[in-house]
Amino acid sequence: MAVTEPIGGPGRASRARGDRAVFIDKDGTLIDDVPYNVDPRFVRLALGAGTALALLKAAGFRFVVVSNQPGIAYGRFGASALGAVEDRILELLAPYGVAIEAFYYCPHARVERCGCRKPSPGLIAAAAADRGIDVARSWLIGDILDDVEAGRRAGCRAALIANGNETEWFLSELRMPTIVADSLPQAARAIVTARRTAAEPPGSRRHAGALVGSR
Ligand SMILES: [Mg+2]
Ligand SMILES: [Zn+2]
Repeated sequence: MAVTEPIGGPGRASRARGDRAVFIDKDGTLIDDVPYNVDPRFVRLALGAGTALALLKAAGFRFVVVSNQPGIAYGRFGASALGAVEDRILELLAPYGVAIEAFYYCPHARVERCGCRKPSPGLIAAAAADRGIDVARSWLIGDILDDVEAGRRAGCRAALIANGNETEWFLSELRMPTIVADSLPQAARAIVTARRTAAEPPGSRRHAGALVGSR
C-alpha cells in the first residue's frame, strides 16, 4: 500500500491508520557501544541523539528501543539490571523533551534460535502489536545490517547509521537500508524529508538503497 503523509504532522488520516514510530537500536545507535555494560555511569548518548529524536518527535514519531541483549543468556547480567540503563537514557534525553516509551529486548543467545533476536522481526512486531503502531508508517534505525533486516522484515523502512559498527556487510534484498547516514541527526533529517515525499511501500525494490551523503 502506498502511503502519502500529510505535511505538518499527524492528522485525522494518520490516526485512523495507527501511529508511526521509530524503532531504535540501543547499543551503537542511541548510545555509545560499551559491550555488556549495565552501569549507568558509562551510558553516553550517541552524538546528536537528543536533537535527532526531538526532530523526529516534532514530525510525529514515537520511540521504542529494540535491542538484542545476549548478555542475559550468557549470565553477564540479569534482565533487571537493564532498568538502571533505561533510567539513565531517559534522564539524558529529558533535556531535549523526548522519551523512549518502551524498551523491548531479546534476552537469548543466537544458538537459541528465538524469534525475537534481530535480524528476526519479533521485537518490532510485538511492540507494534502491543502499542498500536503502524509498521508501514514506521522506521527502524540501527548501526548494523541485522537491525535493518529486522526492521524491513517487520514492514518498516530502515536507516543504517554507517558509523563503522557493521563490519561484515553481508547484503541481501531484505538487508538493504532505505537510508544510509553518517550519524543519528543526519538519519533523522532524511527520515523527516522522506516522510513528506515517500509513496512507496516498505520492501519494494525501488525503495531500497538511497544514500544520504555528508553535509
Ligand atoms: Mg547496535
Ligand atoms: Zn530472543
